[in-house]
Amino acid sequence: MPEYVPPLADIRFVLAHVVDMGGLTALEAFGHADPATVDSVIEEAGKFMADVLAPLNRIGDTVGSHLETDGGLVTRVVTPPGFKDAYARYVEAGWGAIPFDPVFGGGGFPWLVTIVLQEMLTSANMSFSLCPLLTQGAIDMLAHHGSPQQQDRYLSRMVTGEWTGTMNLTEPEAGSDVGALRARATPAEDGTWRISGQKIFITYGDHDLADNVIHLVLARVPDAPPGTRGISCFIVPKFLVNDDGTLGPRNDVRCVSLEHKMGIHGSPTCVMSYGDQGGAVGYLINAGMRYMFTLMNTARLSVGVEGIAIAERAYQQAVAFARERKQGHAVGAPAGAQSAIIEHPDVRRMLLTIHASTLAMRRLIYLNAESVDLARHHPDPEIRRARQELVELLTPVSKAWCTDVGVEMASLAIQVHGGMGYIEETGVAQLLRDGRIAPIYEGTNGIQAIDLVSRKLPMRGGAVVREFLDAISREADALAATELASIQAQLRMGVDALAVASEWLLEHGKEDPNVLLAAAGPYLKMFGLVTGGWLMARSAAAALKHGPPDVLVTARFYAEQLLPQAGALIGAVTAGPRDLFAVDFS
Ligand SMILES: Cc1cc2nc3c(=O)[nH]c(=O)nc-3n(C[C@H](O)[C@H](O)[C@H](O)COP(=O)(O)OP(=O)(O)OC[C@H]3O[C@@H](n4cnc5c(N)ncnc54)[C@H](O)[C@@H]3O)c2cc1C
Repeated sequence: MPEYVPPLADIRFVLAHVVDMGGLTALEAFGHADPATVDSVIEEAGKFMADVLAPLNRIGDTVGSHLETDGGLVTRVVTPPGFKDAYARYVEAGWGAIPFDPVFGGGGFPWLVTIVLQEMLTSANMSFSLCPLLTQGAIDMLAHHGSPQQQDRYLSRMVTGEWTGTMNLTEPEAGSDVGALRARATPAEDGTWRISGQKIFITYGDHDLADNVIHLVLARVPDAPPGTRGISCFIVPKFLVNDDGTLGPRNDVRCVSLEHKMGIHGSPTCVMSYGDQGGAVGYLINAGMRYMFTLMNTARLSVGVEGIAIAERAYQQAVAFARERKQGHAVGAPAGAQSAIIEHPDVRRMLLTIHASTLAMRRLIYLNAESVDLARHHPDPEIRRARQELVELLTPVSKAWCTDVGVEMASLAIQVHGGMGYIEETGVAQLLRDGRIAPIYEGTNGIQAIDLVSRKLPMRGGAVVREFLDAISREADALAATELASIQAQLRMGVDALAVASEWLLEHGKEDPNVLLAAAGPYLKMFGLVTGGWLMARSAAAALKHGPPDVLVTARFYAEQLLPQAGALIGAVTAGPRDLFAVDFS
């Protein structure tokens, strides 16, 4: 049995019936990418991920990345066996170039296609996936905000994957509180900058996969105001690039150590030191943190994908195990024979919970990605505006809900394995260890929830959320078929509960910011459950007409057995902060 089978049937179903890949490819911006081409790209990419990257997942975990040193100084960061060759093949196949502008050598496909590829890449090998993921984020930033000269110098080599990219925000005293960072940038006479300071937790900060690493580094310029307003973003290449595009001398930036982590052992997480010899040469992208927001939305969406990816692989592994493992005697099984555990209702419940949750997450993330494309490329400004609002609203939910659920589902897959799940050889424990980072990085899930209640919920005085919930209600009302009756009823209850919670927060949040902040986590969970339920209901309605029947059953299970949790969260949302501050934790 292969380690990972790309879930192409469900991916195709979502692209056809939940979002509108046909409509997307009809846009002028994606003129050359008809649905058939998209489909063959996805199928080919899936094969690559399954055949080349999935088999390296385990060795990535057991061997990990390591440092080579000479006299105490780091000389090289070495990735696990097989990664370098696989990365060369990834570059050769051009998978990283898929969504980018053909002007820079990209494939010009919708962002949605890249999100599909990213799901399969991450399911196959999360540690490996982080190198292309960070590169993609850096490309996105440069493509939107770099000067033509900077784009010319770096982008084409990053789009092919010959050079990789990093994001350098975090410092020991500046994690969630990015505004506290201390890295310094001072102007040099030639118009460049000199960067100094230490960054921690830098994913693929150094490695042996590519010839050059293009760091995007946040630093503070002289006399800058405190907080995020005083922060600027700089390009700091590992090797300086000559005017003719060849590599010049090594820049004053180096990896000084690697973190020992709970998971994603294959991905080198580096402590980076800038300016030990006077200052790393940096190039200002442009002043101001507002530029980072473009990058943040797409990067957060990509981290949300990690939730689906981990859950999907955990599901596949759990089903395979449950078919093989025999214990007990299932109701109705022949006398004297042990039954496969997949015959027991409780095990089937666990499997269906993982499956239904994964499907709901995939639908949310793909809708979010389709909205990124429409917000950027639809010719009608009104549609662009509406979809941009949807991106703003859904991104924190995609990131936080999907990564929280991904972790829960990996844990449930361990439960399906019984004791063998706790033993490393089965590999399912790796999924939990690897996936556990996703709720933490790219803005912790707590920070995402705060973003949802304090910035997104109040958009247009609450009208954005109201319109969103009205659209869900209308779609629920239109579910006429009797087969969909319970889905309709549960979706109505869920969306009504979310509407009550939203109005309560809009009203009471004004009185005391702690009311909003205390409600943030449960409110985001409600939002995720209901949005997932909405898109599962849409799937069920489509499945009635287009099959397959499993989609309808899975959507009904979600509606009847998972979605009702949303209503139960009203208490937590509206309880306020009183008790949170009434306990003395000393
Ligand atoms: C494996 C790994 C890879 C990473 N890769 C990168 C990378 O490539 N580039 C990069 O720049 N960084 C990277 N990071 C850093 C990561 O983004 C941070 O760890 C994350 O932003 C959280 O910051 P912190 O660790 O300082 O936690 P803290 O900010 O100290 O947070 C601790 C807890 O307090 C909560 N909290 C903090 N502030 C608030 C608040 N105002 N309100 C409510 N709750 C709050 C948080 O939600 C969290 O639960 C990586 C980290 C890891 C572990």
